[in-house]
Amino acid sequence: MEIVNTDNLVVLDKAFVWHPFTQMRNWTAEGHEPLLLVSGKGAWLQDRRGRRYLDGNSSIWTNIHGHRHPAINAALKSQLDRVAHTSFLGFTNPLAAELAARLVALLPASPLKKVFYSDDGSTGIEVAIKMAIQFFHQNGQPERIQFVSFENAYHGDTLGASSLGGIGLFHDRFRTHQFPVLRLKGIEDLDTVDGANVAAVVIEPLIQGSAGMRLWPQGMLRELRKWCDEHGAFLVFDEVMTGFGRTGKMFACMHEGVFPDFLVMAKGLTGGYLPLGATLTTQPVFEGFLGTYSELRTFFYGHSYTGNALGCAAALANLLIFEEEQTLAALEPKIVHLTNRLDALRASRFVREIRQCGFIAGIELGGANGEPLDWRAETGARVCVAARDYGLLTRPIRDVIVLMLPLCVSKEEIDLAMDAIGKAIADVCR
Ligand SMILES: *Cc1c(COP(=O)(O)O)cnc(C)c1O
Repeated sequence: MEIVNTDNLVVLDKAFVWHPFTQMRNWTAEGHEPLLLVSGKGAWLQDRRGRRYLDGNSSIWTNIHGHRHPAINAALKSQLDRVAHTSFLGFTNPLAAELAARLVALLPASPLKKVFYSDDGSTGIEVAIKMAIQFFHQNGQPERIQFVSFENAYHGDTLGASSLGGIGLFHDRFRTHQFPVLRLKGIEDLDTVDGANVAAVVIEPLIQGSAGMRLWPQGMLRELRKWCDEHGAFLVFDEVMTGFGRTGKMFACMHEGVFPDFLVMAKGLTGGYLPLGATLTTQPVFEGFLGTYSELRTFFYGHSYTGNALGCAAALANLLIFEEEQTLAALEPKIVHLTNRLDALRASRFVREIRQCGFIAGIELGGANGEPLDWRAETGARVCVAARDYGLLTRPIRDVIVLMLPLCVSKEEIDLAMDAIGKAIADVCR
């Protein structure tokens, strides 16, 4: 395999780049060598020194069928030979039209029948927020402006999406410039909410990802749906992380057979290849925007790259692979295997709690007496660095080790990942 001589690139990165969610003083420190990833194949990534790592967090929760999948690669190359991008403002393109039909067909039992494209998860949430506000504004209920979300929620980093967020570390500093949101602890708090002014309730269904893989109680989605119906508010499901098989079904909401008025998808939509977001909504919402041009009921919203042809090509290929490789059926025994391996790790005295939802796992480290660790010790980060020596690449959320493998991995690769985590915990916590 090709090994790239990249010393100079590391120098350039440290001199010129500012990385997301990264303390750049540590990054640019003299002794720190950033991991430079140069290629991938299947569930594996390779760095500039030729070392290989299992992609333990699916490249920040995006990758589904592995890297350099022949079908997605071919779809992209074929689209490149036609055109890379054309505007979606006032025009359409073949793949965006076909993809919309296929996305709607993924949820046949739901009322979700229309697809609005955007660039990523954050903008997909912005679309849902703005559609909800404008819908009520122009359909006789302008008082419905209140949004309800949950403590520890994460819906993206743009200002609107982060207004809904409930992770203090990320969001609190910007509260002065965000719109006010009613943030609940859980479903029980809904009783205290006056629904008359609520535009929408927004939730990550089944599991809060960035909160550290926190699980919601079973049956919660049905109760939320009921509350929203009783009070005339919209329900928004943020399936940016949970979509595309991660929980064992195509979408998390399918576990409870409960459907929202807006469903936002992004990360896995293109199989982890390209940024693309989609906000699905219902026929009644769509109709609430119809009128003559001068009535100004149009949804005046869009991005330069909306409906991008390459993104849509990757997304269509992604969906086709789900059918051809029977990805979800093949995933079932892998989830069982993962469950067994996680159960074995629960006995470790350095593990405080293990939380799992389908193929998503969060392993929370703890002190010897089961108490939480001091996050300033960065134990989770140190365990993840140690795991690299055993062939696993992942990123923690504070002291929660995230394991979210691409759905294409084998049982042996699950074993490798779990072995690596076990050994890394032993090395760091001993
Ligand atoms: C990642 C994530 C987002 C934001 O998506 P981006 O593509 O990073 O903007 C929103 N909601 C959830 C649940 C996510 O996990």
